[in-house]
Amino acid sequence: MPASAPMIRVRNLCKSFGHLQVLKDISLDVEQGTVTTLLGASGSGKSTFLRCLNHLEKPTSGDIQIDGEPIGSVLTADGRRQTDTAGNIARMRAKLGMVFQQFNLWPHMTALANVIEAPMRVRGLQRDEAVELGRAFLAKVNLLDKADAYPARLSGGQQQRVAIARALAMQPKVMLFDEATSALDPELTVEVLEVMRAIASEGTTMVVVTHEMRFARDVSDRVLFLHEGCIEEDGPPEQIFGNAKSERCRRFVSTVLN
Ligand code: ADP
Ligand code: MG
Repeated sequence: MPASAPMIRVRNLCKSFGHLQVLKDISLDVEQGTVTTLLGASGSGKSTFLRCLNHLEKPTSGDIQIDGEPIGSVLTADGRRQTDTAGNIARMRAKLGMVFQQFNLWPHMTALANVIEAPMRVRGLQRDEAVELGRAFLAKVNLLDKADAYPARLSGGQQQRVAIARALAMQPKVMLFDEATSALDPELTVEVLEVMRAIASEGTTMVVVTHEMRFARDVSDRVLFLHEGCIEEDGPPEQIFGNAKSERCRRFVSTVLN
């Protein structure tokens, strides 16, 4: 694999639910170490796009590669596409950490237990090793002091930071964030965005769906504006926020900014 292979490579991705075509022929390369923000109206296909990347949704057609390896399907010797084995899909999915609007922590487990569960179960780490790793990632999201707290005792912002630590603890190649702060009050949003900024500054490859325009403008290397399942605008934040070609994108940005 050449050093220049993109971290994420999407070709002609289409996704339909019944008759509803949600993603329409999306092709895209995401370079390693970059932050890509996905903007778009509700229903434009942002979540579906992220969910196709890690194969939580099976694309209707198209190809996705993560770090040079296909996810979801493989080509047979005679050139036909075939669904990959569940084991391979799970192995590939582990390359992508995902953080959702709903934190989905296990309520019966402490913060630390939430973080170390998958590294032990999926990556086969010994408990001691997993605890060390888990504590390091809780420290990264400024929550080491809450290692033994149960989710019900944590604020929404703290729970979301545990969820971020949990995703990071799998040491994924890519982090996907789907409106990670949309369920939070403004003051809790700030602490989560700070953690996301810190992760970005360490060179993590990130694809972020957000309505936080300041974050998008300051942190992104590239911003995509999705409209009805198509990439309608694609460029650096200066273009999207200052000089978008698409009238719809300009209107969207100004509405959300105000
Ligand atoms: P966004 O995240 O941009 O708001 P989504 O990707 O969630 O948009 O949804 C895009 C469209 O696909 C919407 O019309 C939504 O209702 C539809 N959709 C999403 N998931 C499903 C599903 N599992 N079954 C049927 N329709 C779906
Ligand atoms: Mg969504």
